Amino acid sequence: MSSELIRLPLWRMLELLNSSEVSAEELCRAHLEQIERHDGELGAFLSVTAEQALEQARGVDEARAAGKQVGALAGVPLAIKDNMCQEGVPATCASRILEGFVPPFDSTPVARLREAGAVFIGKTNLDEFAMGSSTEWSAFRVARNPWERGRIPGGSSGGSMVAVAAGMAAGALGSDTGGSVRQPAAMCGAVGLKPTYGRVSRYGLVAFGSSLDTVCPMTRNVRDAALILGVIAGLDENDSTSRTEPVPDYDAALGGGLDGLRIGVPTALIAEGLQPDVKRAYEATLARMQEMGATVHEIELPHARYGIPAYYIVACAEASSNLARYDGIRYGLRVENDDGLKDQYRKTRSAGFGPEVKRRIMLGTFVLSSGYYDAYYRKGTQVRALIRQDIISAFEQVDLIATPTAPTTAFSIGEKLDDPVQMYLADVFTVTANLAGVPAISLNCGFDGAGLPIGFQLFAPHLAEDRLLSAAAGLEDALGLQDRFPPLEEVTS
Ligand code: GLN
Repeated sequence: MSSELIRLPLWRMLELLNSSEVSAEELCRAHLEQIERHDGELGAFLSVTAEQALEQARGVDEARAAGKQVGALAGVPLAIKDNMCQEGVPATCASRILEGFVPPFDSTPVARLREAGAVFIGKTNLDEFAMGSSTEWSAFRVARNPWERGRIPGGSSGGSMVAVAAGMAAGALGSDTGGSVRQPAAMCGAVGLKPTYGRVSRYGLVAFGSSLDTVCPMTRNVRDAALILGVIAGLDENDSTSRTEPVPDYDAALGGGLDGLRIGVPTALIAEGLQPDVKRAYEATLARMQEMGATVHEIELPHARYGIPAYYIVACAEASSNLARYDGIRYGLRVENDDGLKDQYRKTRSAGFGPEVKRRIMLGTFVLSSGYYDAYYRKGTQVRALIRQDIISAFEQVDLIATPTAPTTAFSIGEKLDDPVQMYLADVFTVTANLAGVPAISLNCGFDGAGLPIGFQLFAPHLAEDRLLSAAAGLEDALGLQDRFPPLEEVTS
């Protein structure tokens, strides 16, 4: 029974909980057992909060038994990326520099999930400070793709995605600055939804690129993402960039189908470097959408091919500023020394940050430094404005934009670690949405010859998450891949 429970969609778990066919405690135990069985190898979690989770679950069961009103996600076990604050549980960002840091408060998305009765099962693995596309840059452990354990699960929210794809959590929160929930969703055959910038509060999310960062649902199907987004979205006075518009009922917006939707395809952008299986699945999915009544239109995003350089300039510049706070005085690690304050900073930061984070800090400091600011940072922000304008103009002609999520399926562990530019290119189709601030989703659209999942990405205009989710749900229904589960059995020892 427990192996069936963990495979259910989150929305179905809620039905069973609400009709008391399953208790929150039983559901929590089923997920904890799955973690016990598989996480040693898969590396999804950095901490598992079994005791607190069971206590929360029993609280939900008692409230239900007493006939009390319970929240929208009452009793559902969720995992939280370890760059978000959850009160009383370490937040490491998969970095040595945050060793020993235990946040005294909940980030707003976590607080809203808690209020909705969600059960927090653990904090998940990531590339250090969310900088990466493979989760190999975690300072603590490698995460593995549940479809093929020699492959990366994508990143940086790889731990959250593995937890969900392998049935160790019903859903999860990730963060997406340049593709970090969509790219792992593509690699693991699941769903990653990046909302409009500002739709979900960033309060309590450890900052990477503050003008790009978003907190996101990660799930096995589209409806589950709609349910989580409905809980975490909305204005928050603690985040001055959070949007004031009312939050629609995303679940109720599903079911619109694809009939009459105009889908924009940026042909020139996706012409080069696509793995043939990815191209085939992408084209087949577009054809499927046409069969369902959508029309496909070629669009131009003339500046989108500069997305990767613009993104890496802006993101690194913001990261270098945001990471200045890790000085060995206020948080986490401190390397003691006798040579004065400056030396203490140097020793602490040298010991605490990993190689990719150091690379980003140096790049970011360089592009912001006097003499280079105009040539790099200012130019990067100008290109970003052009890309944003390209997207806004495209949406005058089409309702959604479709691309593959990533140019390839999951690559092998270790394959791109020595070549940062190759790693950065994994985000060539995802960064555009962050630079423009628009919502985007990735869902599974098939498998390559080796049985690895392929992601399909849709963008919508600012705040049109309801349209995005409805179209994605319709497409998902037609493709019928959402209940496929990775082959984990042979891991069981
Ligand atoms: N892979 C991208 C990077 O390394 C995006 C990361 C993210 O979205 N957090 O910056």
